[in-house]
Amino acid sequence: MDAALRLGRIAGIPVGVHPSWFVALAVITLSLAQGFFPQSYPGWSEVTYWAAGFVAALALFLSVLLHELSHAAAARARGLAVESITLFIFGGVAHIRSEADSPRDEFFIAVVGPVASVLIGGLSWLAARALGVADVPLRAILEYLGMVNVMLAVFNLLPGYPLDGGRVLRAILWGATGSLARATTWASYAGQTLGFIFIALGVFQMFAGQLLSGLWIAFIGWFLSNAAETSRQQVAAQESFVGVRVRDLMLPDPPTAGPDLPVQRFISEYVLQRGLRALPVVVGGRVVGVVSITDVKEVPAERWGALAIGEIMTNDKLASVRPSDELAPALRLLAERDLNQLLVMDEGQLLGLLSRSSIIRYLQLRQELGASDLVRGRR
Ligand SMILES: [Zn+2]
Repeated sequence: MDAALRLGRIAGIPVGVHPSWFVALAVITLSLAQGFFPQSYPGWSEVTYWAAGFVAALALFLSVLLHELSHAAAARARGLAVESITLFIFGGVAHIRSEADSPRDEFFIAVVGPVASVLIGGLSWLAARALGVADVPLRAILEYLGMVNVMLAVFNLLPGYPLDGGRVLRAILWGATGSLARATTWASYAGQTLGFIFIALGVFQMFAGQLLSGLWIAFIGWFLSNAAETSRQQVAAQESFVGVRVRDLMLPDPPTAGPDLPVQRFISEYVLQRGLRALPVVVGGRVVGVVSITDVKEVPAERWGALAIGEIMTNDKLASVRPSDELAPALRLLAERDLNQLLVMDEGQLLGLLSRSSIIRYLQLRQELGASDLVRGRR
């Protein structure tokens, strides 16, 4: 969900919509204009049904945005950075950079979303009451918002990770066991189970003749079980890095070169002959940049002879770790900055290069050998 269209910022948080959101907007508008509103409020004109359907669909997404903003505000209040909020076909998601520090924080951040939805629903319902008994479209929209927000809260409180209810479950398990990893694993299994139940319900509905709503429910179940499985695998991957240090997987004493080295020679001598993907660029013993295959690919091949690596190297987001650092934060740094390698430095000295590929190779080896202690003996 990275390819989101940016709408703007709210309280400094970038808000965007994924292209799939427009599909949901269209489907919800259609089903309200042609189904729910004509059935519940007969006698309006065709145009009124469509206008009411569209406004109600937009208001639903505004409700979802408020739900996500409440998560974001709670996360910020607990000292966690919120990267963005994205609306997509199944609702919204607030990207929070790191995990909560305690089960209590996790519980709080998770539970405010459904609470916000219930509040929005309740206020909409009260506003509809205040409008009196007339069958006006505004009242119909408010009644719809009252109902749909409460449904949203109930759905989100189902106890399967990564739904809000699953996060609440995870917070409780985390508090009870003291292990975030174990809590995430169990809550993810619950999420996967819930996903399968939804798929089964959806298929059942399809066979019962309700093709569209059955398809929708099955689709949601599929999405949920996928998300849960991904979370579980991430935990498993993180677990297998416990106790592994940067120095265990780094390339020690990597070759370096000055900024004047022609790109052509970097390719022939370092990439092709020595199998390197990146080379630290050094001036007077100080690292000034890193040149990598990614940098080379950005210039046309016919210019490789004329350019020096100093002209194409990356020098604005140099990230470094220490040899004694744990691998998990190093991996996070790679992912956050979208890098393929990190410099391994200690007291200003270049000691190694940690590449994404060496970490992947380590994971594959571990899986193949079924060993949990490939490198620990070396410490
Ligand atoms: Zn939520």
